[in-house]
Amino acid sequence: MSAPSAVPGIFDLAVVGAGIIGLSCARAAALKGLRVIVIDRDAQANGASVRNFGLVVVTGQERGTAWNRARRSCATWQQVAQEAGIPILQRGLWLTARRREALPIFEAFLKTEMGEGCELLSPAAARARCGELNAKDLQAVLVSPDGLRVESREAIPKIAAWLTGRFGVQFLRQTTVLSAEPPRLETSRGVVQASAVAVCPGDDLSGLYAPRIANYQVTRCKLQMLRLAGPGFRLPAALMSDLGLLRYAGYSALPETAPLRARLETEQHEHLKHGIHLIVVQSADASLVVGDSHQYAATPDPVADARVDQLILEEFAAATGRPAPAVLERWTGTYASAADAMFIDAPAPDVRLVMVTSGSGASTGFALGEEVIADLFGVSPGR
Ligand SMILES: Cc1cc2nc3c(=O)[nH]c(=O)nc-3n(C[C@H](O)[C@H](O)[C@H](O)COP(=O)(O)OP(=O)(O)OC[C@H]3O[C@@H](n4cnc5c(N)ncnc54)[C@H](O)[C@@H]3O)c2cc1C
Repeated sequence: MSAPSAVPGIFDLAVVGAGIIGLSCARAAALKGLRVIVIDRDAQANGASVRNFGLVVVTGQERGTAWNRARRSCATWQQVAQEAGIPILQRGLWLTARRREALPIFEAFLKTEMGEGCELLSPAAARARCGELNAKDLQAVLVSPDGLRVESREAIPKIAAWLTGRFGVQFLRQTTVLSAEPPRLETSRGVVQASAVAVCPGDDLSGLYAPRIANYQVTRCKLQMLRLAGPGFRLPAALMSDLGLLRYAGYSALPETAPLRARLETEQHEHLKHGIHLIVVQSADASLVVGDSHQYAATPDPVADARVDQLILEEFAAATGRPAPAVLERWTGTYASAADAMFIDAPAPDVRLVMVTSGSGASTGFALGEEVIADLFGVSPGR
């Protein structure tokens, strides 16, 4: 007896995973007029895509492919946000530096193509633009006009609803895909038929195509996040601090980072040990999302370490010159992590396995989705 059908019909593309990477593949395929189904085991988005800052980072991404993908994805976010009714809550980035060793990094960065449109503010110029930000030892602020911020918890469901309303993309939720070998996908609810499959499983390393994933030596990374009460003013942009110059490859690959690294190893050893760097973004209700830390393990423990939260809050206070407002929420998130920033693997001619392994899927996902669909279907699918 043949297995029951979970959904009638034959799709051009089945996408496994309804996070930002799966939605990006679904969007790119739907734009080509393909019939698309997205299958996810959860009732609603619950992975990294709704636990993140919602920050589309352009300035700071690794020079070359990642930076170009982020630029393209950021432009797409603006279009999708408009069509799907997603408010863009912040634009641009302020990287505030409290160590003089950051200055040569800023100067070197501004000479690269990635520095185009960016400007360097003296402490006085920064205070003239935003007097509430008042770090006592501020040296300079690198201001980038690029990048934007959305509230991921709202944006991801809105993108899914827009894909259905605008393109007729179907969603099959609370359904685990057990095997994906086109034209047949075995799921926990029966069979789905599709000519091609994009597997976008986030940090599920032991499910579909686990041996292929293992080839990329992927582990998982746990991050701690906080939501703080509104500080009583609007931030001029998303904020980062000196620690970000070591974490983002667009800066850290510059040889000028060595002296700053040496100083931070001494002064902020504990922050570096926990992989802490500061990101502060602001929501519509003025509350702040603040993080984060990085702890690597195949199965990270479920604990949000109070000491790590304290270190994040100390960095907030030092970088803003203000005491941290009350903590309203705490959560952790995990993402897939590997030496390569991402990969698109082809376990079969009509299957692509897509994984962002650098914690930048919100920033690069839309461009990646377009690349996956071009790779699977060619520039013109001919329908
Ligand atoms: C705390 C945190 C902060 C971050 N901040 C940022 C940021 O500000 N900017 C940025 O660019 N990036 C950020 N990132 C990284 C970014 O969120 C991720 O790179 C991105 O969300 C990954 O998207 P995804 O679709 O691959 O994974 P996910 O969002 O995890 O989605 C994967 C989905 O696949 C489903 N799934 C897996 N296997 C199956 C199966 N067999 N059957 C059915 N369903 C399946 C899961 O249920 C899940 O819904 C952050 C990540 C974290 C954790």
